[in-house]
Amino acid sequence: MSQASKSPVIMWFRQDLRLRDNPALHGACARGWVLPIYILDDVNAGEHQMGAASRGWLHHALASLNESLAHRLRFYCGDATVLLPKIAEHHGASAVYWNRCYEPWRIARDGALKILLRASGIDVDTHNGSLLWEPWQVLKKDRTPYRVFTPYYRRGCLEADGPREPLPAPAIGDVPPPDPDGQECTLEGLQLLPTLNWAASLYNRWEISEDAAQERLEDFVANGLQDYREGRNYPDRPNVSRLSPYFHFGQLSPNAAWHKANKAAAYVGDHASLDTFLSELGWREFSSYLLYHFPHLPRSNLQSRFDRFPWREDPDALKAWQFGHTGYPLIDAGMHELLQTGYMHNRVRMVVGSFLVKNLLLHWHSGEAWFWDSLVDADLASNSASWQWVAGSGADAAPFFRIFNPVTQSEKFDPEGDYIRRYVPALARLPKKYIHAPWLAPSDVLAEFGVTLGTTYPTRIVDIKASRERALEAFAKIRS
Ligand SMILES: Cc1cc2nc3c(=O)[nH]c(=O)nc-3n(C[C@H](O)[C@H](O)[C@H](O)COP(=O)(O)OP(=O)(O)OC[C@H]3O[C@@H](n4cnc5c(N)ncnc54)[C@H](O)[C@@H]3O)c2cc1C
Repeated sequence: MSQASKSPVIMWFRQDLRLRDNPALHGACARGWVLPIYILDDVNAGEHQMGAASRGWLHHALASLNESLAHRLRFYCGDATVLLPKIAEHHGASAVYWNRCYEPWRIARDGALKILLRASGIDVDTHNGSLLWEPWQVLKKDRTPYRVFTPYYRRGCLEADGPREPLPAPAIGDVPPPDPDGQECTLEGLQLLPTLNWAASLYNRWEISEDAAQERLEDFVANGLQDYREGRNYPDRPNVSRLSPYFHFGQLSPNAAWHKANKAAAYVGDHASLDTFLSELGWREFSSYLLYHFPHLPRSNLQSRFDRFPWREDPDALKAWQFGHTGYPLIDAGMHELLQTGYMHNRVRMVVGSFLVKNLLLHWHSGEAWFWDSLVDADLASNSASWQWVAGSGADAAPFFRIFNPVTQSEKFDPEGDYIRRYVPALARLPKKYIHAPWLAPSDVLAEFGVTLGTTYPTRIVDIKASRERALEAFAKIRS
C-alpha cells in the first residue's frame, strides 16, 4: 500500500505526555501509521480549566514531547467533541487511541466522543495509562466503593493483582506527511505560558521532560527512598521525590515508579520506607478513586454536616495567607515555596491548609482555588480530596478538632529553621531559638539580626490559641 493511501491511527495525547509505558501509544503503533495530536480543550473543562502554573508546565511538557516525536505532534485548541471528528475525517483515520482520564468532565466528553466517532465507522480504543488500578475494579464485598483509605488500599489493591510491568517506548515509525487540516495551531498559539513575571523563574527550577522525570525517579530511589518514612516529614530533607507534576501530566507512569521502587528495595533495604512510598502512590490512586465514585468531590463536602459550617469571609486574611504574610514563619515559608517553585512540601501543605480552614476559618474552596492556580502539580482529584481531608469534610479525613499548631510543627519538622531561612529571607539571620516564633524574641535580639516586626516581617494575623478555640466552637455547632 502506498503511504498516501494508508489510513492513519490517531494517538490523542492527554495526561500521558510520554513515550515510555504508554499503553495507548503502544496499541496505536502496533496498528499502523500514527498521527499524534494534542487538543487544549478549555471548552469542556469549564470551571476546571487548568490554572496558570500548570499551563506553563504543560507548555514545556508538550515542547519536550514534540521533540521526542521528531516535531510531528499536531496542536489544536477548542472543543474536542467538534475537533476530533473533523480531524479524523480529514485524515481518513481508521481509529483513535487514548489513555483514559477520570475527571467527571473528561469522562462525559470522552463518552460523547466515543459515540460520535464509532457512528462514523472509526474505532475507538482506550487504555489505562495513569492509574495502578481502575476505580471500578476495587469495590467492597457489597459492590459499593470504599470511603476509607486503609481497607481500600489493603484489601482492594495490595491483595489484588499487582500493577502491570511498564512497557518500553514503541517504535513510532512513519507518520503521515504534513497535510494541514485547517484546524491546527502552533504550540505558541495555545498561549500556555503565563504572562506574569513570577512565572519565568518558576520553570527554571524544573527540568520538564520525560527523561528528566525518569532521572528524578532514579535519583529518588537511589538517594531519597532510604529513610523516606521518617525523612518525608521534614521539608528541608531530600527524602521526597518531587515527582507529582510528572505524574499529573503523565510524563512518568505510576507503574514505572511502583516497579522501580520495588526493585530498589533489595539494595535500599528499608522496607518500611518502601511500603510508605507505595502507600503514597496509593493515596494518589485513592484520590482519583474518590473523584470517580463521588464526582461532586471538588465542590461539595463529602460529609454533608459541613454544609452548615459557619465559614468566615475575610479577604485581607485570605490575601495574607496567599502571599505568605501571616506572621507565622512556617506558613509564610510554605506559601513562598509555592509562589517561587509551583510546589509545596506535603507536610507544609497540611499545615498551611489547617491554618486556612481552622485558624482563619475560611472555606476550603478558597485554599483549593489558590492551590489550583499556583501548583504545577494541581490535580483535580488530589487537590480536592486533600483539601477535604484537611478540612475534615472528606471521606477519610483528619478530624476537624485536630488542628496543627504552626509553631510546634515548625519546631518539630524544621528544627534548624533551614526551610524557613530559604523561603523567608527576612528571618534568615535569626537564631534557631527564635526563628519559629520571632515575636518571642527580645527586641535587642530582633534588632541585632535585622528584624522589625510589622516592617521587615509581618506581625501575626491571628492568635493561635484564640483562633483554635474559635474553630472548635464553630465545629461544635455542626457536630451533632
Ligand atoms: C491541601 C493539599 C493539597 C494537595 N494538592 C495536590 C495536588 O493538587 N496534586 C497532587 O499531586 N498532590 C496534592 N497533594 C498531595 C501531596 O501533598 C503531593 O502529592 C505531594 O506533596 C507531592 O510531592 P512529592 O511528589 O515529593 O511526593 P512524595 O512524597 O515523593 O510521594 C510520591 C507521590 O505519591 C503521591 N502522593 C503523595 N502524597 C499524596 C497525598 N497526600 N495525596 C495524593 N497523592 C499523594 C504523589 O503523586 C507523589 O508524587 C495535596 C496535599 C494537600 C495537603
